[in-house]
Parts: sequence; structure tokens; C-alpha cells
Amino acid sequence: MEKTCLSLPRKPFRTRGGAHISHNKNTRDSRSVVMPCPKTVILPMSQHIGTPCTPVVKPGMHVCVGDVIGKCESMISAPIHASVSGRVQSIRKIQLPNGHMNDAVVIESDGEMKLSENIKPPVISTPQDLFNAVHASGLVGLGGAGFPTHVKINVPEGKHADTLIINCAECEPYITADHREAVENTENVISGIVLMLRILKLDRAVVGIEDNKPDAVKALKKAISECTDAEAKKIGVLTLKARYPQGAEKVMIKAVTNRVVPMGMLPVDAGCIVMNITSVAFVSSYIKTGIPLVSKRITVDGSAVTEPKNVIVPIGTHIKDIIDFCGGYKDNCRKLILGGPMMGIALETDDFPILKQSNAVLAFNKKDAVLSTPTACIRCGRCVKNCPFSLMPAAIETAVKLHDKDKLKKLGVADCMECGTCAYNCPAHRPLVQIIRQGKMIAANKAKKQGV
Ligand code: SF4
Ligand code: SF4
Repeated sequence: MEKTCLSLPRKPFRTRGGAHISHNKNTRDSRSVVMPCPKTVILPMSQHIGTPCTPVVKPGMHVCVGDVIGKCESMISAPIHASVSGRVQSIRKIQLPNGHMNDAVVIESDGEMKLSENIKPPVISTPQDLFNAVHASGLVGLGGAGFPTHVKINVPEGKHADTLIINCAECEPYITADHREAVENTENVISGIVLMLRILKLDRAVVGIEDNKPDAVKALKKAISECTDAEAKKIGVLTLKARYPQGAEKVMIKAVTNRVVPMGMLPVDAGCIVMNITSVAFVSSYIKTGIPLVSKRITVDGSAVTEPKNVIVPIGTHIKDIIDFCGGYKDNCRKLILGGPMMGIALETDDFPILKQSNAVLAFNKKDAVLSTPTACIRCGRCVKNCPFSLMPAAIETAVKLHDKDKLKKLGVADCMECGTCAYNCPAHRPLVQIIRQGKMIAANKAKKQGV
């Protein structure tokens, strides 16, 4: 029987919950600037979900841009490459935002950004070639999750994927890095999608993009219409309502395909492969140049930043150097966030490097950094009504207080993606995400009984 091709969606399917949040996309119209080479970079061996890498360099060694400095010890991992040329100064421990200690290679730059002689573009003709190349490139989900991309594109035996979803929702306030990728690197975005469609033999690709990026929508549609590859006919752009968390993987899959990924399952279980737009553009660039993942576009914004902008920096660049490049702090910086205000991680210091999965650095003054004082839950149910997964955060809080592991499991605490929509909508300002994180620890037997 002849296989029927799936059509491209004309309008998004209905999704549940979410919140209207001020976009504050202040840097959306400013062209990205390349930051001069920093004096040093610091490259942690864990910049992905999965097993940390092992350093393969020693202090005193000279490295070039693209040399492997951290090798993978397992399939769920991604190699780390030198992002500047220079001398390995030291290998030291660094505390990552998740609290884990990790080895990090410090490289003192020689300022030359000399490319490694080992760099050569890969030849891709089969899914295995693509898998090997993406693995070797060090690519991880650049939208913030950091999941190794080669694992995502490897469809396990017995499963079938028909749809590639390119995630350009960028629903977090302030961040415009993916928006600028769509506008400034459109050709690589489309050629990356064409390559994925051709090699993985998928039926269609849909770019999911929020309606607050009209220039990016226009640029993508124009590039698709001008593309002469046969696969271009299978690519569509789907404009989505700007509503947080539209970019969450499972929310995006529902909006584009009307399919639901069962809890605890992966996108491929709903026949989908989801890639961030910057990730797919990187694949195209890697196939052309062989240069692995060594740099990143970062949105620098917030009320305590003198000159907000999008900056392209070597991975491992210190946040302090990036802030200095953006004119330094104005007012006193009272809150520094790596990532967006909804799902980013508050940092205690700017003496921390940009990681592969970082997409923003936000600095806020005293006025914008104030947290509201929590009051008692009034049982209004808004947290439940707005959760995209129909979870019950108020009930989870009660179970956390009782240290009730079974109840927490029944409430599906592990399925929470920590998007913060419940907390954002809570009139009592309950710190629901922190409470849910604690609930996850209890359910996984990793927390001692204590008061909340
Ligand atoms: S943080 Fe978790 S519980 Fe709260 S809205 Fe998001 S998914 Fe639902
Ligand atoms: S939104 Fe806040 S106040 Fe309302 S039920 Fe949920 S936790 Fe309680």
C-alpha cells in the first residue's frame, strides 16, 4: 500500500493552560554582535543531560578551536571542544547551577582563534552517518534543555517518526536568541531542515513560532518558497499564539500535531522529533564546515544591564566579561539569572561560564528583583486550571508537607516540567516550583523528612 503523506497544519491545535506574560523582547530588532575573544574560558565537563565527559587534556597543553577536550563515556553524553585556541591553564572543580561539582578545563586564550587541523566536514548519506556526525559535533538541545541531539534523532527500532517539529516558540520573556537565529541565519535553518527530512525520511517538518516574531515568520516563509530542494514542499511555518509555555516540548507537539505524548514517554512515542531552531541551523553549518559546537548566541538583558543585546560568544566565556562587553551593570545588580525569568537559574555570582545550553543572561535591579511574600493558599484552583499537564500543585504542596511519597507519585509529581506557570498565576505567591522540586525528591526517596 502506498504511504500517505501527512499534510502541513494550517492552524494550531488547542492546548491546555498556560499564562499571558509580558514579552519584554527588548533585543528582538538588534542584530547580534560577535564578542572579541575573551582572555580565558572555562569549560565544565557536564554541559548536557547525561554522563559528564572526562578531560583528555592536561595543564600546559596547547589546544586549537574545535579540539576535543572532554570525551564521552556513555551514549547519553556529548563531547566538549575547545572554544578558543591557547594553553590549558588548569583543570579544576566548578559548582554547576544544579549544585553538582564538576571538572572544568580552563583555557588561557592566545587571541588567535586558530582552528584545529582535525576539523573536516562530515559526509552524510545515511541516518547512521547523521547520528555519528551530530554526536561528534557535541550538539545538545540549544533551547535550554541540553539533551544530546544525537539521541533525539535516533529513532529506536520498533518506533516510527513522521514529523520534525522545529521549535522557535521562545516563549520565555526577554530571550530573543532564537528569534535572531531565524532572521539572521535563515538559510542554514532551512538547509538543516531539508537535510533532516531527506536523511531521516520524515513526512513533514513544521516550524512552530509564536506570533510575536512576524519578521522571522516572513523570513522563514520566503526562504522556504525560494528553496529549490524537493523537501521544501514538506516544510511549513505554523504561527502560534504567544502564550507561555508554548515552547515546552509536549505543548508544542500538541499544538502542531494534536498528538499527546503520554506521561513518562518521549516525543518519538507520538511520532515526532523536536529540535530547537538554533540546533537545526547548527547541524547545517556543521555539515558544511566541520566546526563543532564552540560558540553560542546569548541574549543579555534586564534592568541592570547598560546596553542589552544579543552577543555571540565562545562557549565557556565568563558572564562577567559578557556583561562588561554590554557596557557593564547600571544600578546595582540584585538578581542575575542564567536563562529566562520563568525557568532560568538564579546565580550568586557572575564568575560563571556560558554553557552550551545557555541562551540568556538577565540582570535585574532592586525594583525588579523583589519577590512577593507568600501567604496562605486560598484554594482558588488557578494553579490547576493553568497547568498545561492538569497537575494539582496545591495538592502536591499538601503531600509534600505530609512527606506522603505514595500520594506524590499518584499526583504525578515527576511529570511536572517546572515551567512555573502555576506559581505565576498563584494569587498567594506560593513558591510552587520549589515545593514541587522537593516533592520530586521525596517521591524519588532522595529527601529527608522535614517541615516545609
Ligand atoms: S510547574 Fe509543573 S505543576 Fe506548575 S504549571 Fe508547570 S507543569 Fe504544571
Ligand atoms: S493558585 Fe495558589 S492559592 Fe490558588 S489553589 Fe493554587 S496554590 Fe492555592
